Amino acid sequence: MTIHFGCTQCGKCCHNLKLPLSLAEAATWLRRGGDIELFCEAIPWPVEPPDTDAQAMHKRRLSFPVLCGALPIRVVVTVVASFDGACPHLQSDGRCGAYELRPRVCRIYPAEVNPFIPLTPASKACPPEAWSADKPVFLAQERLVDADTLEVINASRLAAAHDAPLKQHLCAYLGVSSAALANEGFVIYAFARDVMLEALERVERLERLGGGDAHALPASEWQFVSNRRATVDALASIEAHHAVASSLTEGHVRYMEFFASDL
Ligand code: SF4
Ligand code: SF4
Repeated sequence: MTIHFGCTQCGKCCHNLKLPLSLAEAATWLRRGGDIELFCEAIPWPVEPPDTDAQAMHKRRLSFPVLCGALPIRVVVTVVASFDGACPHLQSDGRCGAYELRPRVCRIYPAEVNPFIPLTPASKACPPEAWSADKPVFLAQERLVDADTLEVINASRLAAAHDAPLKQHLCAYLGVSSAALANEGFVIYAFARDVMLEALERVERLERLGGGDAHALPASEWQFVSNRRATVDALASIEAHHAVASSLTEGHVRYMEFFASDL
Protein backbone atom coordinates (compact mmCIF):
# COMPACT_ATOMS: atom_id res chain seq x y z
CA MET A 1 0.00 0.00 0.00
CA THR A 2 1.22 3.50 -0.84
CA ILE A 3 0.02 6.54 1.10
CA HIS A 4 0.67 10.06 -0.14
CA PHE A 5 0.69 12.93 2.31
CA GLY A 6 1.31 16.65 2.36
CA CYS A 7 0.43 18.88 5.31
CA THR A 8 -2.13 21.55 4.41
CA GLN A 9 -1.38 23.55 7.57
CA CYS A 10 -5.03 23.26 8.60
CA GLY A 11 -4.06 23.18 12.30
CA LYS A 12 -6.59 20.48 13.24
CA CYS A 13 -3.91 18.28 14.77
CA CYS A 14 -3.28 20.95 17.42
CA HIS A 15 -6.79 20.75 18.94
CA ASN A 16 -8.54 18.44 21.43
CA LEU A 17 -5.54 16.24 22.06
CA LYS A 18 -4.00 13.81 24.43
CA LEU A 19 -0.29 14.07 23.61
CA PRO A 20 1.87 11.25 24.99
CA LEU A 21 5.14 12.74 26.24
CA SER A 22 8.51 11.45 27.40
CA LEU A 23 9.50 12.38 30.94
CA ALA A 24 11.89 15.06 29.65
CA GLU A 25 9.18 16.46 27.38
CA ALA A 26 6.71 16.45 30.28
CA ALA A 27 9.08 18.51 32.44
CA THR A 28 9.49 21.00 29.57
CA TRP A 29 5.71 21.11 29.06
CA LEU A 30 5.11 21.86 32.75
CA ARG A 31 7.85 24.51 32.88
CA ARG A 32 6.14 26.25 29.95
CA GLY A 33 2.87 26.44 31.90
CA GLY A 34 1.09 23.32 30.61
CA ASP A 35 -0.52 20.53 32.60
CA ILE A 36 -0.03 16.80 32.36
CA GLU A 37 -1.80 13.69 33.59
CA LEU A 38 -0.71 10.09 34.19
CA PHE A 39 -2.76 7.44 32.36
CA CYS A 40 -2.25 4.12 34.17
CA GLU A 41 -3.05 0.64 32.89
CA ALA A 42 -1.62 -2.75 33.76
CA ILE A 43 -1.24 -6.20 32.26
CA PRO A 44 -1.28 -9.45 34.26
CA TRP A 45 2.17 -10.99 33.70
CA PRO A 46 2.14 -14.35 35.49
CA VAL A 47 4.91 -15.82 33.30
CA GLU A 48 7.52 -14.29 31.04
CA PRO A 49 6.46 -14.62 27.42
CA PRO A 50 9.01 -15.88 24.87
CA ASP A 51 11.32 -13.32 23.23
CA THR A 52 9.74 -14.24 19.92
CA ASP A 53 6.41 -12.69 20.99
CA ALA A 54 6.97 -9.26 19.42
CA GLN A 55 3.82 -7.66 20.88
CA ALA A 56 4.68 -8.83 24.39
CA MET A 57 8.27 -7.60 24.04
CA HIS A 58 6.91 -4.23 22.93
CA LYS A 59 4.68 -4.02 26.03
CA ARG A 60 7.56 -5.16 28.20
CA ARG A 61 9.75 -2.29 26.98
CA LEU A 62 7.05 0.26 27.86
CA SER A 63 6.23 -1.06 31.34
CA PHE A 64 7.66 -1.83 34.76
CA PRO A 65 7.05 -4.94 36.89
CA VAL A 66 5.23 -4.88 40.24
CA LEU A 67 3.08 -7.19 42.30
CA CYS A 68 -0.67 -6.90 42.68
CA GLY A 69 -1.31 -9.14 45.66
CA ALA A 70 0.34 -12.38 44.59
CA LEU A 71 -0.07 -11.63 40.89
CA PRO A 72 2.92 -10.30 38.91
CA ILE A 73 1.78 -7.49 36.64
CA ARG A 74 3.40 -4.92 34.38
CA VAL A 75 2.28 -1.32 34.64
CA VAL A 76 2.22 1.07 31.68
CA VAL A 77 2.12 4.72 32.68
CA THR A 78 1.59 7.17 29.85
CA VAL A 79 2.42 10.78 30.59
CA VAL A 80 -0.13 12.85 28.72
CA ALA A 81 -0.60 16.54 27.95
CA SER A 82 -4.33 16.74 27.36
CA PHE A 83 -6.42 19.73 26.40
CA ASP A 84 -9.83 20.52 24.98
CA GLY A 85 -9.85 23.08 22.21
CA ALA A 86 -6.61 24.61 20.96
CA CYS A 87 -3.22 23.57 22.28
CA PRO A 88 -1.95 26.25 24.70
CA HIS A 89 1.03 26.68 22.36
CA LEU A 90 -1.02 27.27 19.22
CA GLN A 91 -0.69 30.86 18.06
CA SER A 92 -3.46 32.92 16.50
CA ASP A 93 -1.71 32.71 13.11
CA GLY A 94 -1.94 28.89 13.29
CA ARG A 95 1.77 28.39 13.94
CA CYS A 96 3.20 26.44 16.87
CA GLY A 97 4.49 28.78 19.57
CA ALA A 98 6.80 26.06 20.90
CA TYR A 99 8.09 24.90 17.54
CA GLU A 100 11.70 24.19 18.57
CA LEU A 101 10.56 22.46 21.78
CA ARG A 102 7.42 20.75 20.52
CA PRO A 103 7.02 17.11 21.58
CA ARG A 104 8.13 14.32 19.25
CA VAL A 105 4.54 13.21 18.80
CA CYS A 106 3.84 16.58 17.13
CA ARG A 107 6.93 16.23 14.91
CA ILE A 108 5.89 12.89 13.46
CA TYR A 109 2.17 13.50 12.99
CA PRO A 110 0.33 11.84 11.24
CA ALA A 111 2.71 8.83 11.52
CA GLU A 112 2.32 6.31 14.36
CA VAL A 113 4.95 5.56 17.02
CA ASN A 114 3.45 2.20 17.94
CA PRO A 115 4.78 -0.33 15.40
CA PHE A 116 1.60 -2.41 15.80
CA ILE A 117 -0.77 0.39 14.79
CA PRO A 118 -1.00 0.81 11.02
CA LEU A 119 -1.31 4.31 9.60
CA THR A 120 -4.93 4.89 8.60
CA PRO A 121 -5.75 8.30 7.13
CA ALA A 122 -9.38 8.01 8.30
CA SER A 123 -8.25 8.02 11.93
CA LYS A 124 -6.24 11.22 11.53
CA ALA A 125 -7.30 14.85 11.77
CA CYS A 126 -5.83 15.73 8.37
CA PRO A 127 -8.36 16.70 5.66
CA PRO A 128 -8.82 14.49 2.56
CA GLU A 129 -6.78 16.82 0.34
CA ALA A 130 -3.71 16.17 2.56
CA TRP A 131 -3.75 12.57 1.33
CA SER A 132 -4.28 13.19 -2.38
CA ALA A 133 -2.17 11.39 -4.96
CA ASP A 134 -0.37 14.57 -6.02
CA LYS A 135 1.23 14.80 -2.57
CA PRO A 136 4.64 13.18 -1.85
CA VAL A 137 4.77 9.48 -1.02
CA PHE A 138 4.64 9.17 2.78
CA LEU A 139 4.39 5.40 3.18
CA ALA A 140 5.31 2.68 0.68
CA GLN A 141 5.14 -1.07 1.27
CA GLU A 142 4.16 -0.44 4.91
CA ARG A 143 7.30 1.66 5.50
CA LEU A 144 7.58 5.38 6.09
CA VAL A 145 9.62 7.08 3.42
CA ASP A 146 10.75 10.22 5.23
CA ALA A 147 14.11 9.67 6.99
CA ASP A 148 13.61 12.55 9.44
CA THR A 149 10.25 11.20 10.61
CA LEU A 150 11.75 7.73 11.01
CA GLU A 151 14.56 9.17 13.09
CA VAL A 152 12.12 10.96 15.42
CA ILE A 153 10.01 7.79 15.77
CA ASN A 154 13.14 5.84 16.70
CA ALA A 155 14.11 8.47 19.26
CA SER A 156 10.58 8.34 20.65
CA ARG A 157 10.71 4.56 21.07
CA LEU A 158 14.12 4.75 22.74
CA ALA A 159 12.86 7.44 25.12
CA ALA A 160 9.80 5.35 26.02
CA ALA A 161 11.98 2.34 26.86
CA HIS A 162 14.42 4.51 28.79
CA ASP A 163 11.59 6.14 30.78
CA ALA A 164 9.70 2.97 31.70
CA PRO A 165 11.69 2.03 34.85
CA LEU A 166 11.93 5.68 35.87
CA LYS A 167 8.14 5.90 35.87
CA GLN A 168 8.09 3.44 38.74
CA HIS A 169 9.99 6.03 40.79
CA LEU A 170 7.69 8.79 39.57
CA CYS A 171 4.67 6.80 40.73
CA ALA A 172 6.28 6.06 44.10
CA TYR A 173 7.01 9.77 44.65
CA LEU A 174 3.43 10.71 43.77
CA GLY A 175 1.69 7.85 45.59
CA VAL A 176 0.31 6.44 42.34
CA SER A 177 -0.58 2.77 42.74
CA SER A 178 -3.82 2.08 40.86
CA ALA A 179 -4.21 1.04 37.26
CA ALA A 180 -6.99 -0.09 34.99
CA LEU A 181 -6.83 -3.49 33.36
CA ALA A 182 -5.27 -2.88 29.92
CA ASN A 183 -7.87 -2.38 27.17
CA GLU A 184 -10.64 -1.75 29.74
CA GLY A 185 -9.83 1.85 30.55
CA PHE A 186 -7.35 4.04 32.40
CA VAL A 187 -6.92 5.26 35.91
CA ILE A 188 -5.96 8.90 35.40
CA TYR A 189 -4.04 10.95 37.96
CA ALA A 190 -3.95 14.74 37.70
CA PHE A 191 -1.70 16.52 40.17
CA ALA A 192 -1.07 20.22 40.60
CA ARG A 193 1.60 21.47 38.19
CA ASP A 194 4.18 22.15 40.91
CA VAL A 195 3.64 18.72 42.51
CA MET A 196 4.09 16.94 39.18
CA LEU A 197 7.15 19.02 38.27
CA GLU A 198 8.78 18.40 41.64
CA ALA A 199 8.29 14.64 41.22
CA LEU A 200 9.74 14.76 37.69
CA GLU A 201 12.73 16.74 38.94
CA ARG A 202 13.31 14.15 41.67
CA VAL A 203 13.35 11.51 38.94
CA GLU A 204 15.80 13.61 36.91
CA ARG A 205 18.10 13.94 39.92
CA LEU A 206 17.83 10.23 40.65
CA GLU A 207 18.83 9.44 37.10
CA ARG A 208 21.76 11.88 37.17
CA LEU A 209 23.01 10.15 40.31
CA GLY A 210 22.74 6.79 38.60
CA GLY A 211 19.90 5.50 40.79
CA GLY A 212 17.42 4.81 38.02
CA ASP A 213 17.23 1.12 38.84
CA ALA A 214 13.69 0.11 39.75
CA HIS A 215 15.06 -2.40 42.28
CA ALA A 216 16.18 0.50 44.48
CA LEU A 217 12.53 1.30 45.20
CA PRO A 218 10.64 0.11 48.23
CA ALA A 219 8.03 -2.44 47.23
CA SER A 220 4.70 -0.80 46.52
CA GLU A 221 1.33 -2.47 46.45
CA TRP A 222 -0.54 -1.92 43.22
CA GLN A 223 -4.21 -2.55 42.63
CA PHE A 224 -6.38 -2.99 39.57
CA VAL A 225 -9.43 -0.78 39.19
CA SER A 226 -12.39 -1.90 37.13
CA ASN A 227 -16.01 -1.01 36.48
CA ARG A 228 -16.95 -4.52 35.27
CA ARG A 229 -18.34 -7.34 37.37
CA ALA A 230 -16.60 -10.11 35.43
CA THR A 231 -13.20 -8.45 35.83
CA VAL A 232 -13.63 -7.80 39.54
CA ASP A 233 -14.74 -11.41 40.10
CA ALA A 234 -11.80 -12.78 38.10
CA LEU A 235 -9.33 -10.62 40.04
CA ALA A 236 -10.88 -11.67 43.34
CA SER A 237 -10.62 -15.34 42.38
CA ILE A 238 -6.83 -15.05 41.99
CA GLU A 239 -6.45 -12.80 45.05
CA ALA A 240 -5.19 -9.85 43.03
CA HIS A 241 -5.71 -6.51 44.74
CA HIS A 242 -8.57 -4.62 43.16
CA ALA A 243 -11.11 -1.87 43.64
CA VAL A 244 -14.26 -0.80 41.83
CA ALA A 245 -14.01 2.36 39.79
CA SER A 246 -16.74 4.12 41.76
CA SER A 247 -14.56 3.92 44.88
CA LEU A 248 -12.07 6.40 43.39
CA THR A 249 -13.33 9.42 45.26
CA GLU A 250 -10.17 11.52 45.56
CA GLY A 251 -10.40 14.62 43.40
CA HIS A 252 -7.14 14.07 41.53
CA VAL A 253 -7.93 10.48 40.43
CA ARG A 254 -10.57 9.37 37.95
CA TYR A 255 -11.45 6.33 35.87
CA MET A 256 -11.79 6.52 32.10
CA GLU A 257 -14.00 3.64 31.03
CA PHE A 258 -13.97 1.92 27.65
CA PHE A 259 -17.07 -0.12 28.62
CA ALA A 260 -20.26 0.86 30.41
CA SER A 261 -20.19 -0.10 34.07
CA ASP A 262 -22.20 -3.09 35.25
CA LEU A 263 -21.27 -2.66 38.89
S1 SF4 B 1 2.96 21.83 20.76
FE1 SF4 B 1 2.76 22.93 18.82
S2 SF4 B 1 2.60 21.32 17.25
FE2 SF4 B 1 2.16 20.37 19.23
S3 SF4 B 1 -0.08 20.43 19.46
FE3 SF4 B 1 0.76 22.28 20.44
S4 SF4 B 1 0.73 23.86 18.86
FE4 SF4 B 1 0.48 21.88 17.83
S1 SF4 C 1 -4.09 17.97 10.74
FE1 SF4 C 1 -2.68 17.12 9.21
S2 SF4 C 1 -2.84 18.52 7.49
FE2 SF4 C 1 -3.70 19.60 9.26
S3 SF4 C 1 -1.94 20.74 10.13
FE3 SF4 C 1 -2.02 18.77 11.17
S4 SF4 C 1 -0.60 17.45 10.01
FE4 SF4 C 1 -1.10 19.20 8.71
